[in-house]
Amino acid sequence: MKFGGSLLASKGGVRRAARVIATRAKEDQVVAVVSALGDVTDLLLRAARDSKHWKESQINLFVDGLRDYHSRVLRDAGIRRAVEGSARAEALLEGLRVTLLGVSILGELTPRSMDLILSFGERLSAPIVADALKAEGLETKALTGGEAGIITDGSHGEALPIEKVARRAVKRRLNQLVSRGVVPVVTGFVAATENGDLVTLGRGGSDFTATLLGTYWEADEIWIWTDVDGIMTADPRLVPGARVVRELSYVEAEEMAVFGAKNMHPLALGPVRLSKIPVRIKNGFSPDSPGTLIWSSQKKSAEVVKSIALVRDVGMLTVSGETLAGRPGTAANIFRSLADSGVNILMISQSVSESNISVVLRRGTLDRAGKALQRGLSGLAGSARVDLEPDVAVVAAVGAGMKGTPGVAARVFSAVSRAGVNVRMIAQGSSELNVSFVVGSEDAVKAVRALHTALIANPR
Ligand code: ASP
Ligand code: MG
Repeated sequence: MKFGGSLLASKGGVRRAARVIATRAKEDQVVAVVSALGDVTDLLLRAARDSKHWKESQINLFVDGLRDYHSRVLRDAGIRRAVEGSARAEALLEGLRVTLLGVSILGELTPRSMDLILSFGERLSAPIVADALKAEGLETKALTGGEAGIITDGSHGEALPIEKVARRAVKRRLNQLVSRGVVPVVTGFVAATENGDLVTLGRGGSDFTATLLGTYWEADEIWIWTDVDGIMTADPRLVPGARVVRELSYVEAEEMAVFGAKNMHPLALGPVRLSKIPVRIKNGFSPDSPGTLIWSSQKKSAEVVKSIALVRDVGMLTVSGETLAGRPGTAANIFRSLADSGVNILMISQSVSESNISVVLRRGTLDRAGKALQRGLSGLAGSARVDLEPDVAVVAAVGAGMKGTPGVAARVFSAVSRAGVNVRMIAQGSSELNVSFVVGSEDAVKAVRALHTALIANPR
């Protein structure tokens, strides 16, 4: 069971998590994975960067703020004698203070220091949850991901497990504890190198910790506890009729994770897609509602499209000109220039006339991409032009049922056109798991609502 940071930081959240674990632990062996509380990881990230220029007093102020924040959650969890939690917390906070001080003295933040600083969020939250479990009468132990056996390749900020080593270590470590009736509470996101140095698995990595532990330990199921009802058919803040998607296949869930439906770690579904362990996304505020089940269902689902996603804060870049046509290497040139300037591409389209290629990028990288391409294409004879459009959004309809179902694209685009929305660019991968298209920012919500009505609320 993995517990997200906003659930834990909500009023009564830690106790709610502890009860959920305690209830289940009566019947089953449970391993808990926890995120950092609330947005503590964001705070640590900012502090890590700022501390290069901070004075000691500023560092102390930051650490005091973090102490207050965690004490509030502890108090709120109603743990009267949080002996272990607070003694450990003090030692951790001092460790953080000294690390930040080191960064400020050296004026340098290495990837290794960054990972160490980020690790404090989960290392502070795990003992708090463990204390709450003790208050529920359970035997428990807080562990870092490394202590639980997640041994990685050591690439800081994006570490990957060394499968063979980690699998064996996780099994041994977790079984040692659960066989004695102890509930392990493991830090999500934080893992270790073979030498025992701390690393992180990348932002949102606690989900990845949960699917890795579940897979290596051979859990029956993996439950991701959050503060929403599950994966939704659309963002409920935009579409009033949005509802929970009951079931998804692994590939559909992966597709949606990419669109940020639940901001899952991009690799989190990898281990379970192979191990076929069912994953449930559940709401900690209503533990009895079914949530979303991600598994390898055999039956073909009735719904062709399961979710409508919206990706904002993107921009479109178009390279055009007759000189592009019939020249092998043009696309390679474009993509190499973008890659060399560290720009990530979200979507690509080129028409068969080859007279233009459009890509969608995060808005913050658009200017950099434009400059890189001006430079990269300056060698081309003739008139290659680069146009930037910062005010666009991507809308996508996702669902495995689209594969081999004729007419889905027609329904998508007629719904959009009935809403009076102009489509600027279209892409569908040959996997047919999603149809994505670009519209002007001002039309984005209209397009999402129109699609939700036509394909999900009233499917034929
Ligand atoms: N605390 C980490 C983050 O915010 C990992 C997680 O929450 O999944 O990215
Ligand atoms: Mg988080």
